[in-house]
Amino acid sequence: MLLSLSRCLKTYLCMLMVSQAFGQEPKATDVQIAEPSAKAPIKAMIVTGGCCHDYRFQSEAIMKAFKESNVNVEWTVIHQGGTGTEAEIDLYDDPKWADGFDVVIHNECFANTKNADYIRRITSAHHQGVNAVVVHCAMHTYRGVDIDDWRQFLGVTSRRHDHQSNYKIDVTQPDHAIMKDFPADHKSAKDELYIIEKVWPNTTVLATSTSEKDGSKHPVFWTNQFGKARVFGTTYGHSSDTFQDPVFLRAFVQGTKWAAGR
Ligand SMILES: [Zn+2]
Repeated sequence: MLLSLSRCLKTYLCMLMVSQAFGQEPKATDVQIAEPSAKAPIKAMIVTGGCCHDYRFQSEAIMKAFKESNVNVEWTVIHQGGTGTEAEIDLYDDPKWADGFDVVIHNECFANTKNADYIRRITSAHHQGVNAVVVHCAMHTYRGVDIDDWRQFLGVTSRRHDHQSNYKIDVTQPDHAIMKDFPADHKSAKDELYIIEKVWPNTTVLATSTSEKDGSKHPVFWTNQFGKARVFGTTYGHSSDTFQDPVFLRAFVQGTKWAAGR
């Protein structure tokens, strides 16, 4: 009895056994503790690093946004790979690198990494069911490689961007859980407009912005289904101003909750 006590203290059955062993009826509070909690923390990993952005600030801003939204998250931040455009980070040495996480937030920027085996160690974990959020330069990461696995995982293909500006965000799926309450006529903080060459078949575009150069519309928020994984994506996220925009942060929190199945 004592040996198994620590293993099963949180189960109702065990509480019943413990209570009976000590000659007590289980209390109502015991039952409440034993029930699966809807408020169990989301186990989230931020993978960040590489070229061109202030990842320390962005990671802290993301975590602060969840805290201020009263969303309980257990965070793991993996900040690796230096500040260049090419790296193979240690995290992915282990094929089980994402085991146990409800969602992985990819906010990294390694455009010139081209090792197909390395990239497939990342995408295969997602294809088997690790949900994801993909942010800004994640869309240009691995852009020079021939294989499409990463781009199919993202849900969009992009290799370049327009200049920085305050882009109007047009919601195309106003009833979607991620976009409800997103204000009409909202403009991004000063940010880059990523040019989307291709939208993959399992992608649902949630919002677009329009190029000031040629009037073409490009997805800026979307969802994707990649194997068993739900993916939420946004191409915004260049500037620190974006990570201080409450409208962007609210959509980001909603999108992460959606991807994590909450
Ligand atoms: Zn950028």
